Amino acid sequence: MKRCLVCVLFLLVLSGCTRQPPVITEQYIAGTVVTQTIPQGNNSQAEIKDAARQVTERLRELESYFSVTISASDISRLNQSHRTTLQPDTKLLLEKALSLADTSDGAFNPCLLPLIHTWNISSALTEDAVFAVPSPSQIEQAKQHCGYHSLQVNGSEAFLSDAQGGVDLGGIAKGYMADEAVSLYRQLGIENACISLGGNIYAIGHNQYGHPWNIAIQDPRAPHGASIGTISLTDKSVVTSGDYERYVEQDGIRYHHIIDPSTGSPARSGIMSVSVISEDSAKADALSTAAFVLGLKGGRALLEKEHCDFIIVTEDKKIHLSKGIQDTFQFTGKENGYDVVS
Ligand code: ADP
Ligand code: MG
Repeated sequence: MKRCLVCVLFLLVLSGCTRQPPVITEQYIAGTVVTQTIPQGNNSQAEIKDAARQVTERLRELESYFSVTISASDISRLNQSHRTTLQPDTKLLLEKALSLADTSDGAFNPCLLPLIHTWNISSALTEDAVFAVPSPSQIEQAKQHCGYHSLQVNGSEAFLSDAQGGVDLGGIAKGYMADEAVSLYRQLGIENACISLGGNIYAIGHNQYGHPWNIAIQDPRAPHGASIGTISLTDKSVVTSGDYERYVEQDGIRYHHIIDPSTGSPARSGIMSVSVISEDSAKADALSTAAFVLGLKGGRALLEKEHCDFIIVTEDKKIHLSKGIQDTFQFTGKENGYDVVS
């Protein structure tokens, strides 16, 4: 899973008065570090701690439905028996995943499990020792069972018509979880918060200094924590997909965890990372994965069509910004050889 790709920066703007620090909690959920940062202000510390606890519980509940590794999850049951009843959350997420698969012409594909197993994406991409590039025939064989039209949701049931097919929601589930966390904060009267699930961040309201949240965008070729710039964010999510989170380099080729469904292999699209900004984190999550697959031209066209702001970093170290982000992006990547080109 994506380790923290981007981190929240609290800009120490001179505010002239002492403020209480935000409540910060950290848990490991759905294979990633989940950090909640909630400023003290309109809410008491007890209310904030209770909200953080309830959000943690809710995220663990969602993990228990969506996980491919928890054997009793909806998705595991679907993959085992190819027909199963769904929790309402899983139904919503599968429907959303199918709709975003259509939107992206299949570049985002929730049915890639056979290829994910073939490439051993769940484990080997972090351990060079056990990684082996599959043969072309193994890739071709797995690819044939990855058509997302084999997945159907009907009422509260899901079906997989391909007996060798399988669902993996790793490219969208954390976005859905971020959306659900934010809706729970709002229900609980928490107006200011920032939640980070690995590379998925959702920031609502403002930070402890009363300013929009500042989010750093990870430099895809530098150690964790080094950034190419920051954006300021309120009531929106930013989701990053990159080739630097889980990968193995072999014979000069970087094998990472984002699969191009049309080739059956890790995407080689000239992109190092894509960050997508939207009020809908599940959509931003799926579209960041899709844009990574499609490359600069196709990715940009998709994100513009879907009215999402974006930061696309290509292998030539150029940073491509959507119009809506150009004024708020604070570029800091010059020393590391980056250039903003739009
Ligand atoms: P992360 O999992 O690091 O948040 P992404 O959101 O880009 O990164 O999703 C990558 C994950 O999604 C992979 O680990 C895999 O489980 C799954 N995946 C890989 N390629 C695709 C794809 N083309 N469409 C949908 N899901 C994908
Ligand atoms: Mg994604």
